Amino acid sequence: MRVLLRWTGDDPDREGLLDTPARVVRAYEEFFAGYAEDPVALLARSFEETDGYDEMVVLRDIRLESYCEHHMVPIIGRAHVAYLPAGRVVGISKLARVVDAYSKRLQIQEKLTAQIANSINDVLQPKGVAVVIEAAHQCMTTRGVHKHGVSMVTSHMLGAFRDDPSTRREFLAMIGGPRGSAEG
Ligand SMILES: [Zn+2]
Repeated sequence: MRVLLRWTGDDPDREGLLDTPARVVRAYEEFFAGYAEDPVALLARSFEETDGYDEMVVLRDIRLESYCEHHMVPIIGRAHVAYLPAGRVVGISKLARVVDAYSKRLQIQEKLTAQIANSINDVLQPKGVAVVIEAAHQCMTTRGVHKHGVSMVTSHMLGAFRDDPSTRREFLAMIGGPRGSAEG
């Protein structure tokens, strides 16, 4: 961090910057906390006592904070996660934590979307999984082409969400379709 500070043209020994390297390390420990999380373990505790509930479970507008692996700057947006249970359900906070476990890493949005969907699919083995992410990439809004207000939308659909148009439509209606622009 001291090398980077010097590289910007600033003086790492001036008072305001003395503690900056240590602060950045602590911030990075939060930004990249996902590497210490095991998404499969998070999902492993599921419940079978659902009284036969077999309708769609949708968690929408999950705050998403990730980091572009090309520029190491934030990707800020929201994720919508749905699955169609086949006997097993999982606590909804676990779905949000799976989103965090994969997003608090260096990422590209396409891979992040697929990883969330695939891990839910592998562990819960539901009839289908859908993940939609809408996010603004600060490598695009604060540098390069400087396109503010642009958000990128990715989706990964598995099982019934991929094969059955009415299931996919129901999910897209529940999340209200991609709206507005993600902040960031
Ligand atoms: Zn980037």
